[in-house]
Amino acid sequence: MNRVLVVEDEAAILQGLRDNLEFEGYEVFTALDGIAGLEQIRKHDPHLIVLDLMLPRLSGYELCRKLRAEGVNTPILMLTARGEEADHVLGLDLGADDYVTKPFSVRELMARVRALLRRTATATGLPDELEFDDVRVNFARYEATRAGRRVELTRKEFGLLRLLAAKEGAVVTRDELLEKVWGYDAMPTTRTVDNHLAALRAKLERDAADPQYLITVHGVGYKLVR
Ligand code: CA
Repeated sequence: MNRVLVVEDEAAILQGLRDNLEFEGYEVFTALDGIAGLEQIRKHDPHLIVLDLMLPRLSGYELCRKLRAEGVNTPILMLTARGEEADHVLGLDLGADDYVTKPFSVRELMARVRALLRRTATATGLPDELEFDDVRVNFARYEATRAGRRVELTRKEFGLLRLLAAKEGAVVTRDELLEKVWGYDAMPTTRTVDNHLAALRAKLERDAADPQYLITVHGVGYKLVR
C-alpha cells in the first residue's frame, strides 16, 4: 500500500486530504508543522509527500531543500497559495515534483497524486501489471482476475505480489518483504509474510500445495517464476 504523508497546518484542509486519500486506499500520515513532518518522514518513509509551503517551525521550502540535500528523492507535491507564482518556481527549483494551488479541487489533487506515484513506480521498477497462467493483476487499480473471474486480494497481498513481480526470478527475503510491504514501525513477524504468501497461493495457484509460480526458497524467502 502506498504511504502518503500530508504536512499542512490548516486542520480542516489536513482532515479533508486525509479523508480523501484514505478513501482512495492510501495509508495516510499527517503532520501540522515542518519539524513534525520531518519526523514522520523518518519514521514512515512515505512514497509521496503532500507539502504545504507556509508551515510553522520549518517551512515547506526548507523541508524540501533539506530532504533533497540529504538525497531523499521521495516525490513532493507542493500546496501553494493562489497568485504566488514565484512560490511555484522556487518550490520546483528546490526539488518539488509538482504543485497545486489553493484552493484546489480534490479531484485534481488526487489525479496529481496518482500521476506522481505512477511516475515513481515506473522509475523504481515496480510493475503496474502482472500475468501468469490464467491470472491477470493490475496493481495500479488493485484488480486481480483468474480465468476472467475477479479474485479479491488484500492490499498487503497486492503489495507482496508486486514486489515479487518487480524482482521476478530472484529471491526476495522475508525481511525485505516485511520492510517494504508492512513498513518500519509495524510489528508483524516473518510468520506474517508466510501467512500472506499462503493466502496468495490459495487464491492464484492451481494447486496451493504444489505452487508453480510463488516459490518458497527455504530459509530465505520467496520468488516469483513464470
Ligand atoms: Ca500553511
